[in-house]
Amino acid sequence: MTVLITGGAGFIGSAFVKNWVETEQEELINLDKLTYAGNLENLQSVRENKGYKFIKGDICNAKLIAEIFKYYKPRAVINFAAETHVDRSINDGEEFIHANVVGTSNLLQQSRHYWSQFNPERQKEFRFLQVSTDEVYGSLELTEAAFTETHAYKPNNPYSASKAAADHLVNSYFHTYGLPILITHTSNNYGPFQFPEKLIPLIIHNAINGEVLPIYGDGKQIRDWIFVDDNCSAIRQVLKKGVPGQSYNIGAQNEKTNIEIVHTICDLLLDYHPLPRNSLISNYKELIQFVGDRPGHDRRYAIDSTKIENELGWKPIQTFESGSRITVKWYLENQEWANQLVGG
Ligand code: NAD
Repeated sequence: MTVLITGGAGFIGSAFVKNWVETEQEELINLDKLTYAGNLENLQSVRENKGYKFIKGDICNAKLIAEIFKYYKPRAVINFAAETHVDRSINDGEEFIHANVVGTSNLLQQSRHYWSQFNPERQKEFRFLQVSTDEVYGSLELTEAAFTETHAYKPNNPYSASKAAADHLVNSYFHTYGLPILITHTSNNYGPFQFPEKLIPLIIHNAINGEVLPIYGDGKQIRDWIFVDDNCSAIRQVLKKGVPGQSYNIGAQNEKTNIEIVHTICDLLLDYHPLPRNSLISNYKELIQFVGDRPGHDRRYAIDSTKIENELGWKPIQTFESGSRITVKWYLENQEWANQLVGG
């Protein structure tokens, strides 16, 4: 049997591929366009593995997807591929519509065509899993309860709007054609191999290079953080046990303001990467600089993952304490990895 995943050279996708190839016997095909965010270096450790195959290509390419289905006959598709950086979507949303909406639509169309040729028994076994985000729900007030799966969609930026559009398409294929779909909504992921434009790797990179640590607005925006491997184990559990047509929220109950995150990283850096004696600063926090807020910046996201915990028996392993230590240590030991991307 074979599983097709898209976007497996990115941050979460590459963690998923490595976890899968190291623990499952089933073949995995990784289709990735290798945009600026896709990096085959993330997958060095599994490159030679017999159960793993990489294909460079775009999820918008209908002919390519049809050929992959015909040749590899996957029993499931997991769609990680997307444009993911909110700031880039604010500068220019075009590529987000292309990859996130048109790409998902194309994958769905090709999946349906392939799946419709199965007998009913095989049709029931097939899965199309869409990896989505908590951002589709919009922003919460401080006193509001965390997002459950029934929370109304209210995306507020071009990135989250494109992900919401994709979710609606995915749901429509379940209701219209009966395609067995699943959707996961995850909070902010962090961990090794995250592109250094995102908050945690950016702060680590800038701090150890003595550069400014920019914080949007008052820094009091709240995000809910989950270690990347915990998200991957949840996605695997949804693939294995999730009920077709359902969506599952995935979080680890780590609501933190951005400024708290930056302070935590600065404290960990002081432990693991002390400042030199002749440094002009005595604490990395002195590099913090508040900058103008992101337009339409959502104030708070929070995920209620009761459903996946109760119905599918999943729980995260890392606390923010343990996960942030692993992350900071990894970036310190792999500075070359981030330097190349920043330089490029
Ligand atoms: P990423 O930006 O690190 O990686 C995206 C990957 O998709 C890259 O390898 C890129 O080359 C590939 N890609 C982009 N467009 C493509 C296309 N048209 N065809 C084929 N490949 C293409 O993203 P990530 O942080 O790993 O996120 C993965 C998924 O998880 C995304 O769908 C994202 O919306 C979702 N998500 C991410 C987070 C997070 O905190 N990172 C949180 C919730 C949900």
